[in-house]
Amino acid sequence: MGERFELQTADAAGRIGELTVPRAGVTVETPTLLPVINPHLDTIAPRRLADEFGAEALITNAYIFHGSEDYRERAIDEGLHDLLDFPGAIMTDSGSFQLAEYGKIDVTTEEILQFQFDIGSDIATPVDIPTEPGVSRETAEAELETTQERLELAASIDTGDMLVSAPVQGSTHSDLRERAGAHAAETGLDVFPIGAVVPLLNEYRYADVVDAVAAAKRGLGPAAPVHLFGAGHPMMFALAAALGCDLFDSAAYAIYARDDRYLTVRGTRHLDDLDHLPCSCPICVDHGAAGLRDLPDDRRETALAAHNLHVSFAEIRRIKAAIREGSLLELVDERARSHPAMLDGYRALLAHADQLEREDPSSKGTFFVTSAESARRPEVVRHHDRLDRLSVPDALFLTEGPDPPSDEYDDVWRVVPPFGPVPSALSRTYPLTAEVPTRPDRAALEAAARGVSRLVDAHPETSFGLAHRGWPPAIIESLPDELALFDGES
Ligand SMILES: [Zn+2]
Repeated sequence: MGERFELQTADAAGRIGELTVPRAGVTVETPTLLPVINPHLDTIAPRRLADEFGAEALITNAYIFHGSEDYRERAIDEGLHDLLDFPGAIMTDSGSFQLAEYGKIDVTTEEILQFQFDIGSDIATPVDIPTEPGVSRETAEAELETTQERLELAASIDTGDMLVSAPVQGSTHSDLRERAGAHAAETGLDVFPIGAVVPLLNEYRYADVVDAVAAAKRGLGPAAPVHLFGAGHPMMFALAAALGCDLFDSAAYAIYARDDRYLTVRGTRHLDDLDHLPCSCPICVDHGAAGLRDLPDDRRETALAAHNLHVSFAEIRRIKAAIREGSLLELVDERARSHPAMLDGYRALLAHADQLEREDPSSKGTFFVTSAESARRPEVVRHHDRLDRLSVPDALFLTEGPDPPSDEYDDVWRVVPPFGPVPSALSRTYPLTAEVPTRPDRAALEAAARGVSRLVDAHPETSFGLAHRGWPPAIIESLPDELALFDGES
């Protein structure tokens, strides 16, 4: 780990990175999406994934090749790259999914790792135990122990320049996820999938996904490349990227297409319900909704799969652009409006603002305050922490606008919701250059009041005055008693 994954630009805990995959001779820019290829179903040919969609990596299941009379020998003889005709990096899964679905598989970790090596996989996976959400602590702990033994075994096997992934399990027990992350990082393996979140995604439990990922990341540390295994809907890529997930895989593009389901970044629509297509990919522009519906079944499935991939890759590009620009949390905020469960996911993310704050760059593009949730962003938390350390004069007037009532104050600082007090010297520095609405909501006023309280409490020797614009009584009551108050509205 470490030398193969290089972090470049960060925003919140999200980042652009470069993962070097030596066996494939390629470097993959993350965040990236690995389309899932099932050799038995050729929805979209791997060559087309690379040429038309810009896929730098794909994922397929070594266990399917292992168990297939048609493909087993061909995969060994030709190698996956030639057999699939794909020039990028090929990651293989091991059959853990089949283990979770059917309760047993007939290979060991040594066998399946050797098989993945023999067929030319670039990133292999040991057979871990995907532990379902909500199981007892005893079960989660026992299964985690088995997974960890297999990861240690995998780390002890010479796999040449093939990278090997170390899945992080632990179910919905945050402390186990964190411990599993720390253990996985210690194995020295290369890529870190966060496993068994699919049942949570299927039930729209995005807040629980966020908590599981945040816990795993605490254990893994920022240097580890993280794969959110099975999260293939573009609606949640931005949220997951903001937590520091680097790799996504999508089987959804093909599975959804089979049922005439049309992916958008705001959720899934059924083709029958669409008169107008909210997308400008070549498929949507060429066919239109009616044209797509009129296609024969097999062509419609391929066309929908292609649209689904276009919209997924476009979202990955949008996320990268947002990270470069420093607006990833604004993008997450937008995506959170697509479904109440997504809003729960975003709020869960902001509940980890302290954790995000450690990775978040101290300066980036202008912060746009666009929602009540903005008041809980890491930048606001950081500003409040900084208030404790600022030096203040003997008498300081804080104001949302009105001038001090007398000349007894040595200095005047603006109060800007949601940040609270803004010293003049810092007003041109990030995040205090933020664009804020002129009509702050209650969450912003509460955050501003918390900032005022932090400053007053940290400087008991100073006498403070505050001129606010009609703050509600409950917020006023939360302020320290020693503060002299002036209501600028009355
Ligand atoms: Zn489209």
